[in-house]
Amino acid sequence: MKDIEGLVRPNIARLSPYSTARDEYQGPLGIFLDANESPYETGWNRYPDPHQKVLKARISEIKGVPVDSIFLGNGSDEAIDLVFRVFCVPGKDNVVAISPSYGMYQVAAQTNDIEVRNVPLEADFSLDSAKLLAAADACTKAIFLCSPNNPSGNAFPVEQILDIVERFDGLVVLDEAYADFSSIPSLAKEACTRGNLIVLQTLSKARGMAALRLGMAFSTPRIIELMSMVKYPYNINQAAQSLVLKQLEESVETQVEEIKAERALAYDRLASYPFISKVFPSEANFLLVRTADADALYDHLIADGIIVRNRNRIAGCEGCLRITIGTPEENRKLYKSLDTYEEGNIR
Ligand code: PMP
Repeated sequence: MKDIEGLVRPNIARLSPYSTARDEYQGPLGIFLDANESPYETGWNRYPDPHQKVLKARISEIKGVPVDSIFLGNGSDEAIDLVFRVFCVPGKDNVVAISPSYGMYQVAAQTNDIEVRNVPLEADFSLDSAKLLAAADACTKAIFLCSPNNPSGNAFPVEQILDIVERFDGLVVLDEAYADFSSIPSLAKEACTRGNLIVLQTLSKARGMAALRLGMAFSTPRIIELMSMVKYPYNINQAAQSLVLKQLEESVETQVEEIKAERALAYDRLASYPFISKVFPSEANFLLVRTADADALYDHLIADGIIVRNRNRIAGCEGCLRITIGTPEENRKLYKSLDTYEEGNIR
């Protein structure tokens, strides 16, 4: 593996980060005339903690990782963008990603003028490590992996991911947005010591806080420090910090178990329809299904008020719809609609 300092963009290595008023004074509570805030109490008139200390301490307990190995972002999308901004020189560096996968890697790369070398997954969405590593060259700063992968739903074996981490010279960004639904263990703790692994997680899925926008990156203290230097100082607003802290005390174990049970039922039920040729096995909270006419089936479901994700135009997902596992009642409604679908018979 290359030394991490050798992977950082030279301008970022030289950056002195913005120092907030709250960074400069950290003594006891007093009369705050340092940040040009309104002195009148609204509940929100003061800037939030730019380092999210209280929230990070709680996440550290929950995840079993040290506080200095945690970055919090405005969704994991912020952490994805920061990987480009910290490590990739626009117009020069590139990243390698699997295809199909989560669309934001491509969007964040493009907005930062970074080439993405997409390596197609196999027909069953498994990953050929040799093909992946062969796509990298001296300007490849990161490999993006997503496990369980969106939109295919499958997870890659831990041994395979760690083998890639060991063999690749640059960073491996492992997006574990759906890890809570997976039987494959998370590598978040591993990321704190490996040196070139960044694990991304989010509170938007199993934790039920998509609206609060809280994504997490776990890595070595130096990588976390670099990402924190480049982020906007107050990237997690006070409402999000307070509400996430409260909501984290609610267990989601029962909900996750219900979704996994519903996923198993949905797998069998969806596979039983003659117009569905394939249901891909999933470790996430959705199932990808293949059908002869994905657009027609999509329109049929829409007519019944059921919105799924049409992945028909994504390379490797031709004929596919991605269906999120809902509540048992929502899933029954999905089946009821599918029961009335006839191929070639558009309503
Ligand atoms: N990663 C993956 C694989 C996703 O599917 C999503 C959301 N669809 C995200 C990240 C984004 O998560 P967040 O809401 O934390 O930005």
